[in-house]
Amino acid sequence: MGDRVRAEVELKELAGQIRYHEAAYRAGAPEITDGAFDDLVERYRELADSLGIDASERIDAEPGQDHTAGFETVEHRVPMLSLEKLSPNRRDSAGEPMPLADQLSAWFRRRRKELEVEVLPTIVEPKVDGISVSLLYAGGVLRRAVTRGDGHKGDVITQQVARLGTVPTKLPKAGKGEIEIRGELYWPLSEFARFNATLDKPLINPRNGCAGMMKRKDPVGLEETGIRSFFYQVAWDGEATLPPTQSETLQWLADRGADVYLSEVFQTVSEEAALQYCEDYQARRGTLNYDIDGMVIKLDDLGMYARLGATGHHPHWGIAYKFPPERKPTKLLGIEVSVGKSGKLTPVAILDPVFVSGTTVSRASLHNFVELERKDVRVGDTVLVEKAGEIIPQVVEVDKSKRKRGAKRFVPPNVCPTCGTDAVSEEIFVYCPNPTCPAQVRERLRHFASRRAMDIDGMGEVLVDQVVDKLGVRSPDDLFRLDVEELAELDRMGEKSAERVKAGLEAAKARGLGRVLNGLAIRHVGETMAEDLAAYFRTADGLLEFAARYVAEDEEAVETVAPAKSSERGAVEGLARKSADSIFHELHSPAVRKVFTGLADVAVSLSVRASDVREVAEVSGKTFVLTGALPTLSRTEATKRVKAAGGKVSGSVSKKTDYVVAGDDPGSKHEKAQALGVTIIDEAALLALLGDAD
Ligand code: AMP
Ligand code: ZN
Repeated sequence: MGDRVRAEVELKELAGQIRYHEAAYRAGAPEITDGAFDDLVERYRELADSLGIDASERIDAEPGQDHTAGFETVEHRVPMLSLEKLSPNRRDSAGEPMPLADQLSAWFRRRRKELEVEVLPTIVEPKVDGISVSLLYAGGVLRRAVTRGDGHKGDVITQQVARLGTVPTKLPKAGKGEIEIRGELYWPLSEFARFNATLDKPLINPRNGCAGMMKRKDPVGLEETGIRSFFYQVAWDGEATLPPTQSETLQWLADRGADVYLSEVFQTVSEEAALQYCEDYQARRGTLNYDIDGMVIKLDDLGMYARLGATGHHPHWGIAYKFPPERKPTKLLGIEVSVGKSGKLTPVAILDPVFVSGTTVSRASLHNFVELERKDVRVGDTVLVEKAGEIIPQVVEVDKSKRKRGAKRFVPPNVCPTCGTDAVSEEIFVYCPNPTCPAQVRERLRHFASRRAMDIDGMGEVLVDQVVDKLGVRSPDDLFRLDVEELAELDRMGEKSAERVKAGLEAAKARGLGRVLNGLAIRHVGETMAEDLAAYFRTADGLLEFAARYVAEDEEAVETVAPAKSSERGAVEGLARKSADSIFHELHSPAVRKVFTGLADVAVSLSVRASDVREVAEVSGKTFVLTGALPTLSRTEATKRVKAAGGKVSGSVSKKTDYVVAGDDPGSKHEKAQALGVTIIDEAALLALLGDAD
């Protein structure tokens, strides 16, 4: 392979990994640390740059999309960009690893050249790991709080932020005009631990927890979370007379009641000293009451900022120093095989308990048997454990110098450790194929009740285990048939808790089709896919009817989700042929159909939630086919809009098609529409139907 080809292959591979881990993260089950994810993105960007890949051809992994349905979005007057990073993985043109100090001097050299100055006063600040927020004040009064969103548009969270009571509601002596300040909302570790102890389903980590809290529709009670803020920037101002430097701006903000980490910042004119401060801070990391994922090294003179400008990705006035995740050695006491909700058998490391990034770790996923083989992990080994991003602990590598003689390789099981059924291999994974396997039943119910799925208040993992073991619950619908008396008999329950659980079950009935689909633990159906399927099919009946047609290889059904022409996208976002086959076959299986019938019997809503659709009479119930490139809407966006208005989008033209929306280069569908006499419209006409024309 030539170098370019090899790089292109790697780029594609990276894109796939980034997509995969984004989905896992969104589903609340990240498999790699935030740090490792950033590294993937970083490597992707470097490679794409070196190959000269056009922006429109790249995946946009950053900043993460955080839009939540039901929140108003607004455009940022000044985009909320990312930061450039010093990266431990960077290599020079000869392929040699580049020390951070060299990367930083190169960065400073470029600034000196561009600004034509010798001395660059610099300020180093901690990079607190929370969620960014932008606050707009008018006449000194807080008017609006907005999340970073995709960097250009964010969600309005004014009520939530106001309720926290941690940001100033008034900004005195800040002029009569508008001013926008930026900072971070974060959850101090002690407050997070205190709050988490009151929940029966603990939050994964302070950062995700904070993000979730700020997207609570009802702000009542947010003041009790202990979430705090700190500010580091005035993004723009109307007429306040602002100080000329970053350090004085921090003081200016502090004088006006905004929380600022004045005691934690460091000013210098030496890049060596700046780097040293970062390293010293890193050493103190474990003793802080907040998570930081690095430091930010910024120029102090704000006058230079405008002269330096920015790329679409990051400004040129600063660069982040990222901390490598904390790693600790410990002993591997054993390897256990756990059975997941879809039967996947996963090796789990049983560790001599070790304190890493804030908590004691005694178990860590080893992901799969191929990975285990690759790392050559053996019982009795000394292994290095890492848990950056405070998410999932993992075994990074084995210290082979400490391996005892005679340590044996681990042999993957050929039967399920719980039910003894013969295991089957699929790609790199091994599965227990028995859907009634007790371990799978328990895991599926735990998942069904979990926050990201049906969010059944009071139904934690311990209770799920009990209702399975003692009350014979097997299927999700069984949960809704439990009565208060039998629940009250269980360990650590009693009348009151039982009533709360029952109320939780009642409330969960209205979560809607998307949550139900996510809850059923169907392979390849995570949170996003579940919502997309629900939005497209709208009811379980519609979905199941479609699955039946798909399984029977009905041409229209297959073409709708998996167009024969590989250049065309299917109607359901992200649904590729292979996963579609698996998903629709599973949905059509007697077992899954039975669960749907059971859920309908106990009055669980199996339709998309009304709040997620806004019917438009001209579009509702009509079938659209999109073809060719539309002038302003992407295929995905157009599909979304039609569905949100109650219409359907199909992949192929038939007599049942109401409209073909044709853009440039429409192709064969356009011809077929003409032949069948189907109405052909352009994008403007579609927008008019949607009630969206100017
Ligand atoms: P990243 O998303 O990793 O590219 O980093 C950019 C983000 O870092 C910003 O959106 C801020 O939310 C966050 N951040 C935390 N602390 C600081 C700081 N002291 N200065 C600038 N950005 C910060
Ligand atoms: Zn089994």
